[in-house]
Amino acid sequence: MSTPRHHVVIGSGVAGNQAAETLRQRDPESRVTMITVSKLPFFNRYDLPRVFRGERDWRKFVIYPAEYYLDNRIALRRATKVVNVDGTRQTLTLEHNETVRFDTLLVASGASAYMPAELAEYQPLMHAFGAFRDAVAAADALPKDGHVILMGGDTIGLDLGRTLLDVGYRVTVVAEKHTFWPHEIAAEDRPRYIQALADMGFEVVDGHARGEIAAVRAGAPGLSPRRVVFHDGSEIHGDIVMPFFGVAPALDFMLGSGVDIERGLLVKPSLRTTNEAIYAAGDVCQIWSDADKRYHFYHGWKNVRAMGELAARNITGADEPWAPIQDESLPLATDGRIHSPFWEYA
Ligand SMILES: Cc1cc2nc3c(=O)[nH]c(=O)nc-3n(C[C@H](O)[C@H](O)[C@H](O)COP(=O)(O)OP(=O)(O)OC[C@H]3O[C@@H](n4cnc5c(N)ncnc54)[C@H](O)[C@@H]3O)c2cc1C
Repeated sequence: MSTPRHHVVIGSGVAGNQAAETLRQRDPESRVTMITVSKLPFFNRYDLPRVFRGERDWRKFVIYPAEYYLDNRIALRRATKVVNVDGTRQTLTLEHNETVRFDTLLVASGASAYMPAELAEYQPLMHAFGAFRDAVAAADALPKDGHVILMGGDTIGLDLGRTLLDVGYRVTVVAEKHTFWPHEIAAEDRPRYIQALADMGFEVVDGHARGEIAAVRAGAPGLSPRRVVFHDGSEIHGDIVMPFFGVAPALDFMLGSGVDIERGLLVKPSLRTTNEAIYAAGDVCQIWSDADKRYHFYHGWKNVRAMGELAARNITGADEPWAPIQDESLPLATDGRIHSPFWEYA
């Protein structure tokens, strides 16, 4: 009797979960292992703004319960960090030094919030928004009718901002080059998009005109708890400061793997890396486009899910190329507001 193939998936986000499900369906005899540093198995981060509406029960955000993984014979290893991948030996190393062998590996480790190097030292004074506990900490730090300063204002931040306005908070966006990320807005269109933010109820501060953000500081007694200081000497005050400067692929553990990396893991249209046994999907990978003759990131949950499915199909014998199913434009709605189809989760 031959040994079943061992498919390992790193990451339990949209891409990893879709891939594990597809692997299980298409290769019923195989072993499927999903390794994730997350404590929650698969939670709905698109719904995280609901924490600011008062929802504090983490179970309401979980998409698949633990039984799902048992029923589908997917070995889920939570709170487990991959620290190294050896592409030649087809092994990976976990933080506690265990080695896991794979026949195929899908890297779906996503991306984490990008922080410009010059602002990194002020991170302890900022509130993140990547995980459930981050959202709870930020919501707890906000008084009723409080004031939130969104630095940058990528699409994740603007999406949260909409909820904050709706709940009655005051929201200031410090606009700079990452505002609207990952959408690319032409310079001539930018004023209309900034105006749309103002029409939606955001207070917009032009960070570029103030010489860019210089520092984030704690407020003085009698002032708001946080100050954002600009290079021209001006400052704005708020209750919490949240960074939204886009995301950077999470791939430190792949640096010694022998796989080609640029900003993300470089993959062919089949989502295979430069190693036959290793594929990548989701926010971590950059996919070659024959039409443009360059590598592209594709974002948005529909694209990410489709990548997970395609990688799993190709791992299990298909030979299909990537075709995005969601475009990256950011249309202004007829009411002048921004309703990004890209971020709508349905
Ligand atoms: C708060 C928030 C809200 C968002 N809202 C929207 C939205 O409304 N609409 C939309 O389209 N997109 C939204 N996005 C973006 C969207 O979540 C991403 O495009 C998508 O989650 C990417 O999926 P992924 O599977 O590639 O990676 P992720 O969902 O980021 O999952 C990565 C997984 O890899 C694991 N991992 C990383 N490193 C390691 C390691 N070394 N070892 C083990 N495991 C590891 C992580 O724990 C995680 O489980 C949002 C993102 C955030 C942070």
